[in-house]
Amino acid sequence: MRNIDIKLESGTMPSAVIIERSTEEKRLETALYIASALVCESEEKKPCGNCMACIKAQSSNHPDIFVLESDSDRKLIKVDEIREIRSDAYILPNEASKKVYIIENAGLMNEQAQNALLKVFEEPPEYACFILLDKSRNVFLETIRSRAMIIDLGQNEQPEKDENAVKIASDMAQAIVKPYELALMEITPIFDKDKDKEKNKSLLKKVLSELVLIFRDAAVYKTGANSTVSSAPDTAKLLAERLTANELIKLIAASDKIAEAIDRNGNYNLILTRLCSTLRSAAEH
Ligand SMILES: [Zn+2]
Repeated sequence: MRNIDIKLESGTMPSAVIIERSTEEKRLETALYIASALVCESEEKKPCGNCMACIKAQSSNHPDIFVLESDSDRKLIKVDEIREIRSDAYILPNEASKKVYIIENAGLMNEQAQNALLKVFEEPPEYACFILLDKSRNVFLETIRSRAMIIDLGQNEQPEKDENAVKIASDMAQAIVKPYELALMEITPIFDKDKDKEKNKSLLKKVLSELVLIFRDAAVYKTGANSTVSSAPDTAKLLAERLTANELIKLIAASDKIAEAIDRNGNYNLILTRLCSTLRSAAEH
């Protein structure tokens, strides 16, 4: 979030912001981060995370941060709701120097509601900041878009599959059911190949999540069903023939555990050393 920091600290936060792409969760997280920074009382790095305002913001208790929640069941954000926000925006902040309005799934505002919001965008009170969240900036009227700073969180809702990770996962899954451990050990040095350790970790994590999908598919095949989710259904079929349902479940648990160890920032070399034996022992009859 470094680029957001710069804008916040130089005080150039515009009164309207659109946060697009990534996931609903990430969009809200980013919006709350910006909101905390705007109400933060620290003289230095905002949000400091320690002041009263930051603590209130983190616990959703700050009187100057409003979130119009809308889950995926909601069909429409009504013009009345926007009018209410608009009149509130003309009342001075309670305790911070800013007042922040976060609107989730803001694309649910119909044209009438968007136009109601536009009125306040045209002459915003200097302390007000409106943060609109949605999948894409294209759900908003051009007049709204042109007045907002757009924060593109990159990667789409469902990130494209990493073909390389899919291939490695499929090779690993096949190696797990080969009679010799060597088959698996020949593959794993790939997770230590890049000079950048974070890249290695991220590749291993992608491969692990793909492995989980393959194991899950294999378990589904064993029940006679056919609804696959992985990108390597043939590998899943092979595993279904060679492994018991119990072994597949153990493999899923083992993969999740390894991914967790990476997230906890566990000793990466140790994780790699144990990778093969952890997976193979989960698949042992
Ligand atoms: Zn603070």
